[in-house]
Amino acid sequence: MKKSFWGLLKITGLVLAVMLVILFNSGYAQLDSRSEILIPDILGYQTMKCDFHLHTVFSDGTVWPPVRVQEAWSEGLDAISISDHLEYLPHKQDLVSDHNRSYEIARAAAEELGIILIRGCEITRPMPPGHFNAIFIEDANTIHQEDWRDAIKAANAQGAFIFWNHPGWKAQAPDGAKWLPEHSELFEKKFFQGIEIVNFYDYYPTVHKWALDKNLTMVGNSDSHNPTAYEHDFEKGEHRPMTLVFAEARTAQAIKQALLERRTAVYFENKLIGEQKYLQPIFKAAVKIQNKEISIRGKGRASLQIHNNSDLTFELSAIKTLSELTFSERLTLPARKTTILQLKGTADNVAESKNIELPYQVENLLIEPGKGLPISLPVRVNFIAAEKQKMEY
Ligand SMILES: [Zn+2]
Ligand SMILES: [Zn+2]
Repeated sequence: MKKSFWGLLKITGLVLAVMLVILFNSGYAQLDSRSEILIPDILGYQTMKCDFHLHTVFSDGTVWPPVRVQEAWSEGLDAISISDHLEYLPHKQDLVSDHNRSYEIARAAAEELGIILIRGCEITRPMPPGHFNAIFIEDANTIHQEDWRDAIKAANAQGAFIFWNHPGWKAQAPDGAKWLPEHSELFEKKFFQGIEIVNFYDYYPTVHKWALDKNLTMVGNSDSHNPTAYEHDFEKGEHRPMTLVFAEARTAQAIKQALLERRTAVYFENKLIGEQKYLQPIFKAAVKIQNKEISIRGKGRASLQIHNNSDLTFELSAIKTLSELTFSERLTLPARKTTILQLKGTADNVAESKNIELPYQVENLLIEPGKGLPISLPVRVNFIAAEKQKMEY
């Protein structure tokens, strides 16, 4: 039987309506859900996920301030700072140029969603000295001074935490990051305390080295101008770059204290960049060997089950070989999964139980430029002498 034209139209309409409901619901569900970032707390501190460098329409960004809070909540962050440029205001014909407004407008959303919102601004100058973020400030308007020295001085007078932004930004440092006399001048006066070793999609190894040599707090931020979902592909598991702050409590004050005491690491792509004293406990807390003991008979094999309870996929490579057993030179521990590592005995006649440390380096936990974190995987092995092969007649 043929369907009438009107009958077909009704069915098509129904299908469309159902599709719209599905689309609407899935979109709505995304707005309403938060993805937690799984990186463990360490050393009695809370690991706070922070982005201290963000723009809104109040400088050259394309989003209204509360959107920054909603994004942060949805992406699993704890704290953000909106740091609109003081000197670069392309929308000033349409918006008031009161530098405190982006913070004030975002505050209600932050309170509602439990995101710590830190008042900030970006002092935006040609090189030297370049761009500096001042966060934990009281009033952005009084930091807007003609002379950059006065601006940085005013921010310091407000008790700000100040960091040098994107020192390796191609537009200002075409030949790579350069430490200039003006930076020494500011550094010697302790007028900035931190430095971005990661900004948006860039990691600067030179700047990483400076941070270590000069005891500057390492930060990494998104510097998002557009909605973060336009800048990072969350469907593919990407995340924005962020600063991990090891804070005594989930408060703005504790974050500031931790920044001043350089208790940070940077989470960038599938890497953590930071000092060994923080990356080591993160690895230890995230990775658990599930076998209490394994048995190896002669030159036989045994499987070690290793669970990684974090969002990082750890890439390990062996530092050296051991005489008692052989193990894989490369080992990948995927995020939130359990992996098997095969171990193989090297001798037939050993009969003993011993603790063995498998010596690896985690290539994507960077303690220095190009240097992974050395770790060891502890395993208790029960070596059993191999039985002589029975001859069959
Ligand atoms: Zn900048
Ligand atoms: Zn910026």
